[in-house]
Amino acid sequence: MKGLMQDYPLLIHTILDHAARNFGDREIVTRSVEGGIRRSNYAELHSRARKVAKALEKEGIQVGERVATMAWNTDRHLETWYGIMGMGAVCHTINPRLFPEQVVYIANHAQDRLLFVDTTFLPLIEKVGDQLPSLEKVIVLTDADNLPQSTLPNVVAYEEWLQSVDDNYRWRKMDENSAAAMCYTSGTTGDPKGVVYSHRSNVLHALMVNQADGLCLRSTDTLMPVVPMFHANAWALAFAGPAVGAKLVMPGAMMDGESIYQLLDEEQVSVTAAVPTIWSMLLQNLESNGYELPALDRVLIGGSACPPSMMDTFEDKYDVRVIHAWGMTEMSPLGTMCTPTYATTRLTKDQQRAINRKQGRTPYLVEMKIVDDDNNELPWDGQTFGRLLVKGPCVSDSYFKLDKQILDDDGWFDTGDVATIDEFGFMQITDRAKDVIKSGGEWISSIDIENVAVAHPRVAEAAVIGLPHPKWEERPLLIIVASEEVSKSAILEHLQGKIAKWWMPDDVVFVDEIPHTATGKISKKSLRDQFADYRFPS
Ligand code: AMP
Repeated sequence: MKGLMQDYPLLIHTILDHAARNFGDREIVTRSVEGGIRRSNYAELHSRARKVAKALEKEGIQVGERVATMAWNTDRHLETWYGIMGMGAVCHTINPRLFPEQVVYIANHAQDRLLFVDTTFLPLIEKVGDQLPSLEKVIVLTDADNLPQSTLPNVVAYEEWLQSVDDNYRWRKMDENSAAAMCYTSGTTGDPKGVVYSHRSNVLHALMVNQADGLCLRSTDTLMPVVPMFHANAWALAFAGPAVGAKLVMPGAMMDGESIYQLLDEEQVSVTAAVPTIWSMLLQNLESNGYELPALDRVLIGGSACPPSMMDTFEDKYDVRVIHAWGMTEMSPLGTMCTPTYATTRLTKDQQRAINRKQGRTPYLVEMKIVDDDNNELPWDGQTFGRLLVKGPCVSDSYFKLDKQILDDDGWFDTGDVATIDEFGFMQITDRAKDVIKSGGEWISSIDIENVAVAHPRVAEAAVIGLPHPKWEERPLLIIVASEEVSKSAILEHLQGKIAKWWMPDDVVFVDEIPHTATGKISKKSLRDQFADYRFPS
């Protein structure tokens, strides 16, 4: 027997329709790339996104074709997202921090026909433009007055391009499983792989993130997504915010501590999200200027492990709740969020604090388990660690144009991470599987050592890698960027008692800079290459 309810496909544009109808005058504030603050609202976003959709159809873009963006978080970038997806094309966000040859690879692999680009990234496209045969037009996200001279053949200013149409447009009717957006993983090995989100997966993911035991966004919130729209679907925030009618604050190109602080303060931001690097710049800025953050209520931190010392500072000094989250591009991207359960609220304050430091628990619509190398499921005891597998309606099933099975026979996706899960269902990442340090048959977590090291007041950043050892197979090397002069022995003393004795690094080295990937993670691969000839002191 068939259910007798309406067939109402979960399409991205229904989120924007809802926002415009119910919260039309709710503000969208942008720090513009040209400089200065620009103010619009959901009604305007709705109108301009429909113009984008109409103008794309005028360009001859067909349903399912890829249209790329390479842009900061701004109102105009949001308009292109909703416009592209609303006319049935696939919004391909390109990360400008990738190497130019990777940009060429993914734009060609996706066969992007049009590109919306910020002026900041135009020089990068000019450099590689002659290697992008499918690219027909470059639309620069600015007006005619601010359009730079360009060596590219077909360049137009966005505002001019948009003027050629009105907003009298009806969104395309589509199957909810149609492709809506794509984002390439910045894998350290092999070519980047295209993750393709559907309308349905993005709508479900936005609802999932918004659950009360998740980010719990409300219409009364002011949300500033600092995590770039070119990284992992912007953690769903471009959909989750409009779905509840939250005020949006789009930070544009300025990611330094002072610029972020100004927006948090002036726009009274209540919820924000980004990787830990952004927050260390902000916290340094707050500290040196004696600033406070009275309006900020919660901050979502993920992308790499958030050091407990950072959470302590947010919570104890600024009264801001940290929601530690974990996920990956293939998961839309959020997989866990760390919020209390009834059972954990029964624990002592110290126990609760320890649990809050973990990457968190799965919301409804994500399943997870840990397994050993023979795929046997491991216990949820908070001690045993194994490969972390996931499944759910917002998890990838395959990669774009890659004829390779990526799920096991029961539909589980191997995240490539190693983790523990405790009896309350809280997961803690130990390492990427390829970064875990194997010493004397046991595993050492590089993340745990890094977390303790960065809590030292003179340590700005820390990374731990495993290097070959004649007796133990591998031993940890601690690499440090110091904010003020500090000795090796002071660092080792600081670690004493906070990590297992046999986890103590065999050496500590100081560097000026630690290399990062295009998504802001410490590049362990580059560090292993850099220290390939290093030998531990005997
Ligand atoms: P990406 O697809 O670029 O977002 O990278 C996903 C990977 O980032 C995950 O598989 C993890 O290795 C890492 N990651 C994301 N969030 C966290 C977190 N909170 N703690 C530790 N690692 C994380």
